[in-house]
Amino acid sequence: MEPGAGRPKLPKNYRLIYGVLCAQAEGHHAAASEIHAAARQLQPGIGYSTVYRALDRLRDLGLVLEVRLPGSASALYEPARPGHAHFHCVECGCVEDVDYSLPVTDLSALAQRYRIEIDSVVTTFNGFCDRCRSGRTEGSA
Ligand SMILES: [Zn+2]
Ligand SMILES: [Zn+2]
Repeated sequence: MEPGAGRPKLPKNYRLIYGVLCAQAEGHHAAASEIHAAARQLQPGIGYSTVYRALDRLRDLGLVLEVRLPGSASALYEPARPGHAHFHCVECGCVEDVDYSLPVTDLSALAQRYRIEIDSVVTTFNGFCDRCRSGRTEGSA
């Protein structure tokens, strides 16, 4: 898929940032500093604030998903893909994609009950990842 295809109004820098995100491995969640470093490879001199502005805008457009984790000051970014939630390990801090989405019927029931309009759902599960979990159950080695 061509980054930014069908959205000719997206500034060049924003398309560049979106391209950087789309080029990363699926399931990878990049910090802004990492995206900045990758963008600089393509366009030396691109500023940190430009990267931040682009990420904000891409998020608002629904092209990029911003993952905010409890207890972490900086967000992680990935191209938006519907139907997945995040698992966050409270031990090592890793973030993994998990296939999960709230059934649409649940959402419309909620919306009706509280007379609200739901635009998006962000789900994060917290716990211990496989590695940390087995480290815990094996006890001290
Ligand atoms: Zn872990
Ligand atoms: Zn994800």
